[in-house]
Amino acid sequence: MKYLVANWKSYITSHKDAKALFLATRDEADACLSEVIVCPPFPFLPDIKQDWDMAAGAQDVFWETKGAYTGEVTLDMLRNLNVEYVILGHSERRKYFEESDEVINKKVKAALKAGLKVILCVGEKQRKEKNVIPKIVAEQIKANLAGVPKTKIHNVMVAYEPIWAIGTGLSDTPENAHQAALYIRKTIGKMYHTKLGMGVKVLYGGSVNSKNVLEFVNYHGIDGVLVGSASTKKDEFTKMIKLVG
Ligand code: PEP
Repeated sequence: MKYLVANWKSYITSHKDAKALFLATRDEADACLSEVIVCPPFPFLPDIKQDWDMAAGAQDVFWETKGAYTGEVTLDMLRNLNVEYVILGHSERRKYFEESDEVINKKVKAALKAGLKVILCVGEKQRKEKNVIPKIVAEQIKANLAGVPKTKIHNVMVAYEPIWAIGTGLSDTPENAHQAALYIRKTIGKMYHTKLGMGVKVLYGGSVNSKNVLEFVNYHGIDGVLVGSASTKKDEFTKMIKLVG
């Protein structure tokens, strides 16, 4: 089964637009075999989970359970909405909110402990040698998964997202995404056990659209795609779901 993760980021700003987009997404998703996971901004999560019951993810979560943490959204708040997934370590959170590997690690451990599935984003800012996946990808994996018990690894999905490919229209090649997926699985395999590493689902993210989606999802070893801006365009995203099937 292939995965299509829709990261709406902060593009959709009204309930009306959110409703129209996820109704169209849901109708197409219902007719296909892939798992479509919609990750809207927090205010729209109740609509998805309560009114339409789609697979949903949050775009972030706090690591503490409750308390004096103005502005934060906790794990119980998500679980009470039956949200299954959370995106963590997205490059925009690393960049604009200065989230360190240490902070991401705290969030990953807390989310897994609370029973959520984690979509962990990793990726390099620049690629110096054209076809070589930089070591930073392994370093992020090791730091972000440090202390995660092996019994929880099946709830981690990794999205390989080279930062230079996000929102630029310059997607990576499927061959490189495949190499990155192997590298990620090997890194996790060394941390735990080869078999465990090989079982990890790896997605590709970075300027995926209806023109290139099949090149990625049909490539051996790539379990699906994480889609940013194209997932917020109704016609474009429903076309992508239909193509992947
Ligand atoms: C993303 O937000 O993770 C992403 C891949 O964005 P885009 O598809 O817009 O490049």
